[in-house]
Amino acid sequence: MHSIHVLDHKVIDKIAAGEVIERPASIVKELVENSIDANASAITVEIKEGGKKQIKVTDNGVGIPKDQVKKAFIRHATSKINTEADIDHIISLGFRGEALASIVAVSEVEMCTKVFEDETGIGITISGGDIRDFKETAASSGTSISVNHLFYNVPARKKFLKIDQTEAREIADLVNKLALAYPEISFKLINNDKLELYTAGNHELRHTILDIYGKEIARELIQVTENVEGVSIEGYIGSPGLLRGSKIYETFFVNGRYVKSSLLSEALIEGYYGYLMKGKFPFCVLNIRVNPEDVDVNVHPAKTEIRFKHEQMVFEIVSKQIQQILRGEDLTAHVSLDASKKESVVLSGEKPEIVEEICLPHFKEPDREEMVEERTLREPERSYQRKAEEEPKLSGMPIRNYKIVGQVFDTYWVMEQEENIYIIDQHAAHEKVLFERLIASRKNQSVASQLLLEPILLNLVPREVEVLEKNKEAFRKFGFLIEEFGINTYVIKEIPSLFGRLMNREKFMGILDELIEEKYTANIKTFDDLFANICCKRAIKANDRRTDLELKRIIEDLMTLENPFNCPHGRPIIINITKTELEKKFKRIVS
Ligand code: ADP
Ligand code: MG
Repeated sequence: MHSIHVLDHKVIDKIAAGEVIERPASIVKELVENSIDANASAITVEIKEGGKKQIKVTDNGVGIPKDQVKKAFIRHATSKINTEADIDHIISLGFRGEALASIVAVSEVEMCTKVFEDETGIGITISGGDIRDFKETAASSGTSISVNHLFYNVPARKKFLKIDQTEAREIADLVNKLALAYPEISFKLINNDKLELYTAGNHELRHTILDIYGKEIARELIQVTENVEGVSIEGYIGSPGLLRGSKIYETFFVNGRYVKSSLLSEALIEGYYGYLMKGKFPFCVLNIRVNPEDVDVNVHPAKTEIRFKHEQMVFEIVSKQIQQILRGEDLTAHVSLDASKKESVVLSGEKPEIVEEICLPHFKEPDREEMVEERTLREPERSYQRKAEEEPKLSGMPIRNYKIVGQVFDTYWVMEQEENIYIIDQHAAHEKVLFERLIASRKNQSVASQLLLEPILLNLVPREVEVLEKNKEAFRKFGFLIEEFGINTYVIKEIPSLFGRLMNREKFMGILDELIEEKYTANIKTFDDLFANICCKRAIKANDRRTDLELKRIIEDLMTLENPFNCPHGRPIIINITKTELEKKFKRIVS
């Protein structure tokens, strides 16, 4: 055993850095918070290689006076509090004076800073905690700090960093949240020299939401300004027409600080009771303000988790206010004639009736819109150009030598084969044929695409961009042609022909949501499930009379399948009555 001694300050800093700096996003958080504390109105974050190679934050804040620049990098050096008593009245984001000291302990840092009153600024370079360069330099007012080669001197920590894309996404998510928390600040995020986010910083939260999430979401917002028993709730919630397949669209701030709170998350869901489909989540950007003494922010070192003193009260106030707002809101405006929005059509004053996108066990009236669509698809198409399409052959041959007897109730077909009567559900049969055809063509890598004359424009958030990029190849194999179109914007130019008009922006976003839930990679099963639902919609319905020739073709196709007996949702397609059963009923034979 060595004798006890006090550790060298560099070793202490390196160890302590671990508490503040977990990954590139933690550095971005600390630096941007410093810029906010410095009253900046414009903040630019530039990252290279997911922030591992470089994170540069530039602000137009107050800057650091020349004689204090070196001090800023010393542990527990801060300009934000003076005495113990100040701790109880903190209004700044930082106050511990640890961030810069921690950052320079594990990276190479260059900083340039100038206060408004001075002609020139200071440039300082620090590597491994040692000052390498310190000189006067020309600079604009504010501070620019570049953190290079993170963990270059702590290989064990470096190993734990995720791939660049994941680190970059984490940073982008964070900058989005900060931008939403500070609509008065203009944020820019540049990732590998590409502008990924720009917010105008014009004080309007609605505009920040538009900058981040795009028009489709900004159009469907309901403003919230409530104040009940000392709990104020401000911001925006999405109309019930704006449901998402994952929780990444919910953002909460408590007293202006971004938090992850399962309590608020559940209160939101509770508030949407009656307006939500299973597996769907609302959109929100809400700032909850309570007395600072009624909330404990020290539950988590990064302060993203919080605890309310009066949990039940906050839960009830938030959920009740949201429910009241939804009830009071005139939702007529959100009724859409677009077929894609059927799931969420809500009439004013009525409880919403939610039509789930599943294959219903009971037949419903044929959907007029879809019938029209079926027809237009068979005619030379005005809005689509079809590429050469060859229908792939289906395999297997379980029922042979059958004879089609006819259709009953405009819904079932009756077939005779040897000693059997088969009754076929026409909707399930058609759905199955469409589905198997798609799967077969996917396997042969020959899914036919159709060119959209009006491409579908997508404004995405970083996580969606990541999922889309990761699955671009899979989408391509399924017949989608998707191209980048600008900052977080993509266009879908081609879609699988089979989908016709059933593929639209909403549907596609649904697929992305599912992929996010599937932990970012499309496995074949996810796609198959999604496509099974689409095939269900494309298929002819019960009570839908078709020509004998059409029916014959579908039955022929069905009979070539390995499993013609169950639809993709597992319901039976064919039921069977044997000749013996029939003869028993007629008492021709007695057993
Ligand atoms: P803390 O934010 O807890 O005070 P930091 O280590 O993050 O500690 O920063 C130390 C000090 O450096 C701050 O108190 C502030 O005075 C100064 N500082 C850091 N970044 C900036 C900036 N972007 N603009 C102006 N001053 C800054
Ligand atoms: Mg700080």
